[in-house]
Amino acid sequence: MALTRIGLAGLAVMGQNLALNIADKGFPISVYNRTTSKVDETVQRAKVEGNLPVFGFHDPASFVSSIQKPRVVIMLVKAGAPVDQTIATLAAHLEQGDCIVDGGNEWYENTERREKAMEGRGLLYLGMGVSGGEEGARNGPSLMPGGSFEAYKYIKDILLKVAAQVPDSGPCVTYIGKGGSGNFVKMVHNGIEYGDMQLISEAYDVLKSVGKLTNSELQQVFSEWNKGELLSFLIEITADIFGIKDEQGEGYLVDKVLDKTGMKGTGKWTVQQAAELSVAAPTIEASLDSRFLSGLKDERVEASKIFQGDYSTGLLVDKAQLIEDVRQALYASKICSYAQGMNIIKAKSSEKGWGLNLGELARIWKGGCIIRAIFLDRIKKAYDRNSNLANLLVDPEFAQEIMDRQAAWRRVVCLAINNGVSTPGMSASLAYFDSYRRDRLPANLVQAQRDYFGAHTYERVDMPGSFHTEWFKIA
Ligand code: NAP
Repeated sequence: MALTRIGLAGLAVMGQNLALNIADKGFPISVYNRTTSKVDETVQRAKVEGNLPVFGFHDPASFVSSIQKPRVVIMLVKAGAPVDQTIATLAAHLEQGDCIVDGGNEWYENTERREKAMEGRGLLYLGMGVSGGEEGARNGPSLMPGGSFEAYKYIKDILLKVAAQVPDSGPCVTYIGKGGSGNFVKMVHNGIEYGDMQLISEAYDVLKSVGKLTNSELQQVFSEWNKGELLSFLIEITADIFGIKDEQGEGYLVDKVLDKTGMKGTGKWTVQQAAELSVAAPTIEASLDSRFLSGLKDERVEASKIFQGDYSTGLLVDKAQLIEDVRQALYASKICSYAQGMNIIKAKSSEKGWGLNLGELARIWKGGCIIRAIFLDRIKKAYDRNSNLANLLVDPEFAQEIMDRQAAWRRVVCLAINNGVSTPGMSASLAYFDSYRRDRLPANLVQAQRDYFGAHTYERVDMPGSFHTEWFKIA
C-alpha cells in the first residue's frame, strides 16, 4: 500500500466524519481508534460513501508507519486525559519533525503544555478548534488551528479543501495564531453560541407566553426571520424544530422536551476567562446562569407552587407589533453578545501577544460552524473598517442599528418583566448597552463606599490625584 497523506485517531462522531471528509477531498487517510470496531465501521462507511481512500489500522505502530513523512496525525478524542493518553500512544511511534493536531474542544493551556512537551521530543503540535458538529465535520466545518505555524503549513492544503466554503469569503479556516489560540477562539465561539441559543429561547418564550403564538405560528415567524438580518443556522433549525410533531404521542415534540439544558463546559470556561480578563460578558454569563437554573427542575417546580399566581398583565398585545419588536430586540441583543465575545478574545490576544485578527475570525465563522450567520459579515466589515475597534457597539453601522432598534428592545424587555417572563439574555444585553453608552455611572458611589470602609482612595472629576476622606468623621 502506498503511504497515506495524513492520519486520524479517534473515530467517534467527529473523527469518523472528518476522516471521511478528508478522504472525500482526495487525500488518502489512515485511521485508528482505541476500540478497533470503530476502525472497521469507518472503513465500511468509506466504502459505502463512494469507495473513499480510508485505510484502517488496529494498532498504533502500523497506523503511524502508513503515513507519509513528515507525518501528521489529527486526534479527535475526548478532551483531557484521553488526549494525553493518545499522544503517549502515538508519540512512541512518531519521529522528529512529525506533527500531532488535537481537533477536540481542549482547554487552551493543555495545548500549550503539550506543545512544549512535544517540542522537547522534536514533534510539532497544533490545537485546532473544529466547529459544526457531525454534519460540519463530514461536509465542511469551521476550523480554528493554532500552535506551530510549521505544522499548519504541512496541512494547509488539506484544511483549505476540507473546511466549509463560503462564496465570496473563501474557506472557513485560517491560521489563528500561536500557542493555544485556536482552542481559545473555539472556546469563545462556543460561549457566543450559548448566548445566541439563550437569546433565541427568550424570543420564543416572549412570543409563546405573552403573544400566545402557536408552534406553527412560531415556525412561520422564525422562517420569515431567517430571510433577513437574523439569517443563521440557529434560526433555521429553530424554525424546523417548531414543525416537528411528536411521533410518540399527540402534539409537537418541542413541548415534550424536558426544560433542562445540558452542557459540556466550554461556556463555563468562557465566562471564567471573561472574569480572569476583567471583561464584561453579561449576556454570555446570563446564558450560562440560565443553564444552571434550568437544571434545578425539581426546585423550580416546588417554587412555582409557592409563588403561584397570574403574572400576566392581562393586557392585549398586538401580535404583529410584538413579533417585529422581538425580532429587533433579538438582533440588538445579539450585537451586544458578540461584542462581549470579541472583547474576550481581544483581551486574551493582547495578554498573550497572539496578535489575533478579529475580522478574520468573523470570516471563518461565516460557514460550517453552529453560529454561522449573515450577521458575521457585518462584524468582519466592522473590523475591516477599524481593526482596533474598542467595542463592536461603537462601529458606526452597528451603532446605528442599535439606535434604530432600542425602542423595540426596551418594549420587549419591559413587557417580559411586567408579565413575569424572564429574559436574562436580552435584559443583560440591554443593561450592557445602557452601561456602556453612559458617560457617568453610579460607580462614584461605589468608590466612595470603598473609601469610607476601606480607605481604598478615589479619584476626582475636577482635579488629578488620589484622595482619601475620613467619611465617618464628617458624617
Ligand atoms: P467523544 O465522545 O468526545 O470521544 C470519544 C472518542 O474518544 C472515542 O474515539 C474514544 O475511543 C476516545 N477516547 C476516550 N477515552 C480515551 C482514552 N482514554 N484513550 C484513547 N481514546 C479515548 O467524541 P466526539 O463527540 O467525536 O468528540 C471528539 C472531540 O471533538 C471532543 O473534544 C469534543 O468535545 C469535540 N467536539 C465535538 C463535537 C460534537 O458535536 N460531538 C463538536 C465539536 C467538537 P473509544 O472508541 O475507544 O472509546
